[in-house]
Amino acid sequence: MSATYGFDTLQIHAGAKPDPATGARQTPIYQSTAYVFKDADHAARLFNLQEVGYIYSRLTNPTVAVLAERIATLEGGAGAVCCSSGHAAQIMALFPLMGPGRNLVASTRLYGGTVTQFSQTIKRFGWSAKFVDFDDLNAVKAAIDDDTRAVFCESIANPGGYVTDIPAIARITDDAGVPLIVDNTSATPYLCRPIEMGATLVVHSTTKYLTGNGTVTGGCVVDSGKFDWLKSDKFPSLSAPEPAYHGLVFAEALGPMAFTFHSIAIGLRDLGMTMNPQGAHYTLMGIETLSLRMQRHVENATRVAKWLEKDPRIEAVTYAGLESSPYYKRAKAICPKGAGGLFTIAVKGGYDACVRLVDSLEIFSHVANLGDTRSLVIHPASTTHRQLTPEQQKTAGASATVVRLSIGIEDADDLIADLDQALTKALAK
Ligand SMILES: *Cc1c(COP(=O)(O)O)cnc(C)c1O
Repeated sequence: MSATYGFDTLQIHAGAKPDPATGARQTPIYQSTAYVFKDADHAARLFNLQEVGYIYSRLTNPTVAVLAERIATLEGGAGAVCCSSGHAAQIMALFPLMGPGRNLVASTRLYGGTVTQFSQTIKRFGWSAKFVDFDDLNAVKAAIDDDTRAVFCESIANPGGYVTDIPAIARITDDAGVPLIVDNTSATPYLCRPIEMGATLVVHSTTKYLTGNGTVTGGCVVDSGKFDWLKSDKFPSLSAPEPAYHGLVFAEALGPMAFTFHSIAIGLRDLGMTMNPQGAHYTLMGIETLSLRMQRHVENATRVAKWLEKDPRIEAVTYAGLESSPYYKRAKAICPKGAGGLFTIAVKGGYDACVRLVDSLEIFSHVANLGDTRSLVIHPASTTHRQLTPEQQKTAGASATVVRLSIGIEDADDLIADLDQALTKALAK
């Protein structure tokens, strides 16, 4: 499928064609663990990466492959690998780059689970993270040292309201010769195209908007294909002979597909964080309507945020789509089609009022998820950002007195009415 087609065409067709065996128009769920080799020579060629094909579904599966190509195309990347969750995608993105003693420089404004993964769990691999305010470009520059192997941020940061100046960060990572990884979960490729702004890799929790209906967890790593792994000796997984692959040098043998092939041949083979074909099917169903849903998410979020901003019971609304937001102008440049469907509100009455608000909403579901067709609400400080210190919560925009709303695609009037009645209850003495 030509990448010159428009987004709405590509979100339906990229990566897919009628099933060659049956003509099935919809992508079949290839519920098969293994694939029959034509003969011993064919098997050997597949195992040698001399020919691309299917061997075993821990590595590749035809249904999952359609989704990977779909997401790669929508992001404008060279290739992609799908995995079992967004958090798996983050490890899969870092794995070829990092090693014991190496570090990554990460934004302080990240999904809570990512802050925990980076500040605690990756230490078990001998990796570490330095957290920096990405609005302070000099601090980002200063944090990159000889052992830095990646810089990590979110386009629109969860829990919302913050937008990263991706081109400015990309200039810094370019100068430093370090890949820039952008988590594009909250924005989706419909609203934001990080690779066009200089990102090396894009990661997704496909659990959220890409699937869109709250059915499956999944993740994806998209490679731009543009980073020169051979320029330095910093990335031996890609630039040096791979002992676990009979001495293959991925960057020499596979060019712009080096990272993607490494992620399959080494990453999925040995870490096994594979997406299953049933999960890929649900995400393929969702992704067909991505642009339509994102338009409505943005439209509804803008209306609800504007209503809340004027309400005397509300102290603050952090939505980058509001003119009052310090990130309004940046959002117009980074995500011109809208600032997403996610934001936080601070309620007068503090923590207790937040808790009562969450308990009083009727249409909004109180769940630890976002990017669903349904409107969702959560109190980040006691849930998604619970493992963080109060200081980390505050810098992530998730302090104890804010509630996060993930605005769905229902009737905006109904959402406003629901918030109105719940605010009344939240503030009743
Ligand atoms: C949900 C989320 C993740 C983690 O994804 P899972 O699919 O839950 O593992 C990472 N980043 C962001 C921005 C998210 O919203």
